[in-house]
Amino acid sequence: MGDENVGTLRLHIVGTGCNAPSGHAYGSAFLLEVSDTFLLFDCGPATSYKLASMGLDLRRVHHVFFTHHHYDHTADFPCFALTRWDKSKGDQRALSVYGPPPTPDFVAALFGPSGAFSADLHARITSPASLGYYQLAGGSLPRPEPVFDVTEAVTGTIAKTATWSVSCATVRHVDPVDGEPLLTSLAYRVETELGSIVFAGDCDDCPELRRLADGVDTLVLKPRATLTLPFVDNGQPDISGIGRSLVTGSGKTLEQDGLLLQECAPKRVVFSHLGPALFSQSGVRERVLATIGRSYEGLMLMPDELTSLDLEDKDGQRARTARR
Ligand SMILES: [Zn+2]
Repeated sequence: MGDENVGTLRLHIVGTGCNAPSGHAYGSAFLLEVSDTFLLFDCGPATSYKLASMGLDLRRVHHVFFTHHHYDHTADFPCFALTRWDKSKGDQRALSVYGPPPTPDFVAALFGPSGAFSADLHARITSPASLGYYQLAGGSLPRPEPVFDVTEAVTGTIAKTATWSVSCATVRHVDPVDGEPLLTSLAYRVETELGSIVFAGDCDDCPELRRLADGVDTLVLKPRATLTLPFVDNGQPDISGIGRSLVTGSGKTLEQDGLLLQECAPKRVVFSHLGPALFSQSGVRERVLATIGRSYEGLMLMPDELTSLDLEDKDGQRARTARR
């Protein structure tokens, strides 16, 4: 492959926040552009609006991967799926949806025969006015309903093409109760010719994540500490009065993030799920990076929402080829 034609591997930072909205970030959504394919990981609040703000056409997204079913990772899905369907005139493609249980129930509850949007869908495929607009935009009758190809994922390779593949592992969400997760949570690894990337979701440190992320080029990771909380002088969030459950049952810390990153050794980490304290309290961002940076020597990024990162690099390509 010539250097001038290495394709595209670009990470669009659509939502890098958590369930606490701020003017800077809200909810989770990452769009991975692999040459001419767009893979959406999580679909948190305002994903559709933010994609439009970035000039990204959601009609080109045919694959959605949910890490887990917290609303800050899923709430815009009906808006996304309906807009994608409604604005695709005559050239609709099925939307492939992957996620942990209860992803099939989640999709059916929205778009099934008795789903929350069944009345809307019925109106749009039968109303003369809706059908008139649809035909004016190039659609032909009868107007098809949206089609979903839903995969309940647990582990292993779940999607594969000539240019990319996605595998997943069931991992531990950060809020287990007595060691048992309240929500089944997945982390995903994407392999491409131009690099690999892991989306850890809200995953806690666990052997499954360490295996999945071992040697990956880019790791999208939620810092272990709950960053919506005020920080105290030692750079850790102030959890006094709240207890251990918000930090995780096993009391993970930013130092442990550093150790996880040290072991997995990604070239770069993209921090996500950023709480308001990171934007409103001066010095917090620096403290997080300094604490983790004591153990991890790779590139640490905390990109703003509505920005994009080019991830392809020839050095990375050579490094991966050399390892095979
Ligand atoms: Zn969560």
